[in-house]
Amino acid sequence: MTLRIFLADLLKQASLAIVIGTPVLLAVLWLMARMGELWWLYVWLFWCAFNLLFLFVYPTWIAPLFNKFAPLDDAQLRARVEALLARCGFASSGLFVMDGSKRSSHGNAYFTGFGKSKRIVFFDTLLGRLQAVEVEAVLAHELGHFKHRHVHKRIGMLFVMSLGFLAILGQLIDARWFFNGLGLTSQNTALGLLLFFLAAPVFAFLLTPLLSLLSRRDEFQADRYAAAHASASDLVAALVKMYEDNAATLTPDPLHSLFYDSHPPAALRIARLQDA
Ligand SMILES: [Zn+2]
Repeated sequence: MTLRIFLADLLKQASLAIVIGTPVLLAVLWLMARMGELWWLYVWLFWCAFNLLFLFVYPTWIAPLFNKFAPLDDAQLRARVEALLARCGFASSGLFVMDGSKRSSHGNAYFTGFGKSKRIVFFDTLLGRLQAVEVEAVLAHELGHFKHRHVHKRIGMLFVMSLGFLAILGQLIDARWFFNGLGLTSQNTALGLLLFFLAAPVFAFLLTPLLSLLSRRDEFQADRYAAAHASASDLVAALVKMYEDNAATLTPDPLHSLFYDSHPPAALRIARLQDA
């Protein structure tokens, strides 16, 4: 990316964080002060509602601040994609191309929106590198994620985890040892919230292998769906190109991969697709 885009991104992200983050933080502190013993439950409900609202407005209000979206005008690819969507019983309100190339050569495709107003977005980098049949196979993989409700399950899991963390904070906020143990002599609500968010990632880190395992399982499931509704060998060809463009290793350390990787190693994925 250019220096100009880098600085513009930084400015836009900081402005959004202030404009959206400040009222959210004030609301959380207000709930913590006013809602008595069970404040953490109210904060959790507020947090879930805020996240759902954010997901809802993201495609129309936030994403266009960072990228341009144009309708997909390649007639041949359109016909292929529409045939795939019809085969999979997926209703979409539009196919769009996003100028992802202004930041990196990384290629991707994703859905946004809810219900019947779902849009499919292709990165221009993906369309530039892949053949139409390969784009179709990649989209079939993404449709697999959708059909197996992976996104819904992920959101549900994050909500459950945040309830757990808030319930723990509900206990810690009055515990003197929590503050003293982290080197503080004074104790108040805002400080407790800040300390917790500094300390929590250390403990959440222990959940990494579990989340990676679940994510890799979803990837295999989406690959199986793609192999059933498009061509497995085209998906293999697309994966190889994407690994090349992302400069991703083909031979990760097995232990490191087991702990961190959200996607299975390339060789394993390709072997299963070839079996399919
Ligand atoms: Zn995937």
